[in-house]
Amino acid sequence: MDIWFKNATIVTMNPIAPILYETDLGIIDGKITFACEGSKPKRVINCTHKVLMPGLFNCHSHAAMTLFRGYANDRALEDWLFNHLFPAESRLTPELVRLGTLVAMAEMISSGTVAFSDMYCHMDIVAQAADEVGMLANICNGVIGMDKENFDYYNCNEYLQTVRALEAGYDKKDGRIKIEASIHGVYTSYKPTWEKAVDFAKKNNMRMHVHLSETKTEHEGCIKNYGVTPAQVFEKHGVFDVPCLAAHGVWASDDDIEIFREKGVTVAHNPLSNLKLASGLAPVAKMLERGVNVALGTDGVSSNNSHDLFEEMKMASLLQKYITNDPTTLPATETLKMATVNGAKAQGRENESGMLAEGFDADMLVLDFDNPRQTMCYDPTLNLAYSTSGRDVQMTVCRGKILYEKGEYKTIDIEKILWDTRAARRIFL
Ligand SMILES: [Zn+2]
Repeated sequence: MDIWFKNATIVTMNPIAPILYETDLGIIDGKITFACEGSKPKRVINCTHKVLMPGLFNCHSHAAMTLFRGYANDRALEDWLFNHLFPAESRLTPELVRLGTLVAMAEMISSGTVAFSDMYCHMDIVAQAADEVGMLANICNGVIGMDKENFDYYNCNEYLQTVRALEAGYDKKDGRIKIEASIHGVYTSYKPTWEKAVDFAKKNNMRMHVHLSETKTEHEGCIKNYGVTPAQVFEKHGVFDVPCLAAHGVWASDDDIEIFREKGVTVAHNPLSNLKLASGLAPVAKMLERGVNVALGTDGVSSNNSHDLFEEMKMASLLQKYITNDPTTLPATETLKMATVNGAKAQGRENESGMLAEGFDADMLVLDFDNPRQTMCYDPTLNLAYSTSGRDVQMTVCRGKILYEKGEYKTIDIEKILWDTRAARRIFL
């Protein structure tokens, strides 16, 4: 046995035994076991006053945007995007994307995230960085195709970068890195892009990641141009015929929600980003009630401005209580499920991760409950959903390997990346 966690409170997210008290959990060859007695562990950790839970899944990010945290914020969306963000992004190099992604991964693992679904550029570089750090990552280049008639999909930059990531073979190693197809959004592409993206996904047995109905302008513009909603356009063009992760769904109609359920589309809910950009509130309680898989994401930190999924969980729950005028809406266990079990399903990892169960991958967290915020605990799921912050995370483990422990980054040269990040600031001034 590699590690034996003794005497822990365990929030398993396994419906068969959701919470275990004064229980031991072991890691053998990267897998979870509850049969600890008689084993000779390399390391024993006393978990009195500590809580174990599955690692969190951030199902919509643009990780390298850590370089634009706090960049020209508090402006109207169009002013922010067209006059500030897009010009700054045009200065990105593969090296800067690598740096920004490493900063994001450091922030994620130190606040309990083990897996992320990332859409950005230079994703061959992102795949390499995620492989080195040891996280789980589903990555895609958000394909933009503004040629209405005849977009040369197989020659566009995003496609070529995805092919480079495929050729590098990161997805063939141990399943930690998955490469996905993508359409950036219905408003940044046309029919030739949608159909070729689906074709590419099917040929390579890939999942798909898209933005969908994030803003009222996008949603209503689509209805004006095509007579139907973004979800209905994508359904018509086969985008949902492959497993699809749709970010936002803020303006999804009842008919759209039915399409998500029927086609098994996961919605990645990003409450803080939606609030900060004043995009609206997604009807996720309704989606969950109707059987849609809803996961959580942070979106890029330029519109958040944090990768802490505990913040996202609390906000998701409170917003649904607010819009339904009902405090029983989206209870703690459901919110925790969005960040764990539902996230694993969104990434195609539901049979190996997202809960602490015998034989599952050891993707897990150790949280400190011996502090003023957590000591009074009647039900750990309530503390996790409403009182916990990423700063309570003491240890983050992915596939049995410790990535972060009490301020120490085991797979990232934190001093170097912080130094390089400070140096990169002048590029965007
Ligand atoms: Zn996004």
